[in-house]
Amino acid sequence: MEKKQLLGLFPEELAEELTEYALPAFRVRQIFQWLHRGAGFDGMTNLPKALREQLKERYVDQPVSILEKKVSRLDGTVKMLYALPDGNCIEGVLMRYHHGYTLCVSTQVGCRMGCVFCASTLNGCVRNLTAAEILGQVHAANTLTDGERVSNIVLMGSGEPLDNYDNVCRFLRLVSHPEGLNIGLRHISLSTCGLAPRMRRFAEEGLPVTLSLSLHAPNDALRRRMMPVANVYKMEEVLDACRYYIEKTGRRVIFEYALNEINSAPEHAAELAARLRGMQCHVNVIPLNAVEGKSLRGADEAAIVRFMQELEKRHISVTRRREMGDDIDGACGQLRRHYLEEQ
Ligand code: SAH
Repeated sequence: MEKKQLLGLFPEELAEELTEYALPAFRVRQIFQWLHRGAGFDGMTNLPKALREQLKERYVDQPVSILEKKVSRLDGTVKMLYALPDGNCIEGVLMRYHHGYTLCVSTQVGCRMGCVFCASTLNGCVRNLTAAEILGQVHAANTLTDGERVSNIVLMGSGEPLDNYDNVCRFLRLVSHPEGLNIGLRHISLSTCGLAPRMRRFAEEGLPVTLSLSLHAPNDALRRRMMPVANVYKMEEVLDACRYYIEKTGRRVIFEYALNEINSAPEHAAELAARLRGMQCHVNVIPLNAVEGKSLRGADEAAIVRFMQELEKRHISVTRRREMGDDIDGACGQLRRHYLEEQ
């Protein structure tokens, strides 16, 4: 029988799960706190040894372990390949900025959204990650940070977070729990390919993280050439969902735009500016990271600069995402892909 993961439970649920052990409330609390500090059963030193052994037989403590890691010589960025209890593997990226560590986490094993430029989706979606497995990535990464903990999280690894809605919301509540890692929701960004109805529902969830929308195009025709999801939800519907998110949370939305050979002409910038006019937003351009086996090529440097200027001219706030870990398979899904190919 598969062991149950305790890390994804709220304190009340943990108490309920452990009722048969007839533990005093303080013990359950200790277990919760240990788990959320990243400890395994062996490390829960103020628990009776017999109890630790019993728990070990039935439960998983930390479901994510680091299988392989690559450190960038350019900027210290670490790419990790993690192992899950069922033998699947996922990946993550740990980046060091002046304000601390930012971790990019995955929400699914693979992805089923099919974006043409993305490596994560090449073999489809194997399964959703549990809340424990999303949280476990943070604990695993915290073993690499010399005591300083990850302070910012971006849900931009493999998977579509809003396609794993309940587990992602549970993760957000747990990672921001005052007795857990207590990472503020303001320090967390969730990126979506634009599942409009889910975005609206998420606006009402009371979890005001920064919402990033993978836009990548100024109109539906172009967007459909890159993102199959654009055949399901029209850009206007998705932008309306963004407006709703802004209205409900008071937070600006970030638009991600991976510049490549088909979406980076000055006319595209002008059209994009017109579409976004009046919105409380910010555009993050990403030079497209070319992926083996994928046909789209990145835009050249001159096109990137020009594109940004065209947006600025029209008073759209825009920055370029720093390219980190360029020497270590930086783009989503590439490390896992290479690993699977080797097996
Ligand atoms: N499924 C979510 C989050 C995962 S990807 C989403 O679609 O937003 C995080 C970001 O990286 C997305 O904006 C995605 O479109 C982008 N991305 C994926 N592959 C890329 C590549 N090869 N080059 C540049 N950006 C890429």
